[in-house]
Amino acid sequence: MISVNSISKKFGKQQVLHDFELRFEAGHSYAVMGPNGSGKTTLIKSILGMVLPDSGEILVDGQSIQGHTAYRQQIGYMPQIGRYPSNMKIGQLFSMMKDMRPEVKEYDLDLVNQFELEMIKDKAMGTLSGGTRQKVSAALAFLFQPKVLILDEPTAGLDPIAVEILKAKIQKERKEGKLILITSHILNDLEELTDQAIYLFEGEVFFNDSIESLKEITGEGRFSPAIAKLMQWTLKKKTSTKSLTHA
Ligand code: ADP
Repeated sequence: MISVNSISKKFGKQQVLHDFELRFEAGHSYAVMGPNGSGKTTLIKSILGMVLPDSGEILVDGQSIQGHTAYRQQIGYMPQIGRYPSNMKIGQLFSMMKDMRPEVKEYDLDLVNQFELEMIKDKAMGTLSGGTRQKVSAALAFLFQPKVLILDEPTAGLDPIAVEILKAKIQKERKEGKLILITSHILNDLEELTDQAIYLFEGEVFFNDSIESLKEITGEGRFSPAIAKLMQWTLKKKTSTKSLTHA
């Protein structure tokens, strides 16, 4: 459903994405991992049209996204840090977002209700704690029932109850056949919520296969040691050219 075809991106002299291919299919949930600076956010922003790759193309449902914005209506995006006008009240923010999508008649209010956002709708965004702001970002990402969910560190900053609510919601959407991309440093969450592992290293796709296959290839029965082994291999790769990419 989303194809990333040979995209490259440089910021100044720094090559941040090195000519890689990826495919994301509906009904699958992908863990996008890699050390800081490996290119995860640049990849996500490229898919969202917020970063323009220097070469290559991204297709959504077979159509190039370049010069188009309508495809974004299919994507719910939860940023790592949501930035909102500080004087705007929660209720006003939701009204504004709904006004921007007049064609949508039915909203997904699961998270609005479970996070009890209605009760605090008159609070200004600038006065909210980081966790409450995350709840708002999460509820907005799901609001328009998008086919694709891109969640950047979704559970970071949430209290344990909110984490469980959000994880249950992600699982529900996953069962309904949505395409889900999650970046996170919390490996337990990724193991629970995803079935495909993508590991970026220095702007290249170092691993791209199912979590089952990751465990097999690394000889580790559990996810966390399997990722640790991948990380060791990336460090060795710095001195050799061996890559495990299964593009
Ligand atoms: P990750 O999300 O894996 O931490 P990023 O995609 O944010 O990685 O960043 C990859 C590299 O690109 C980093 O070295 C970062 O400093 C650089 N970078 C990202 N965005 C910009 C930008 N707008 N201008 C200059 N450099 C950038």
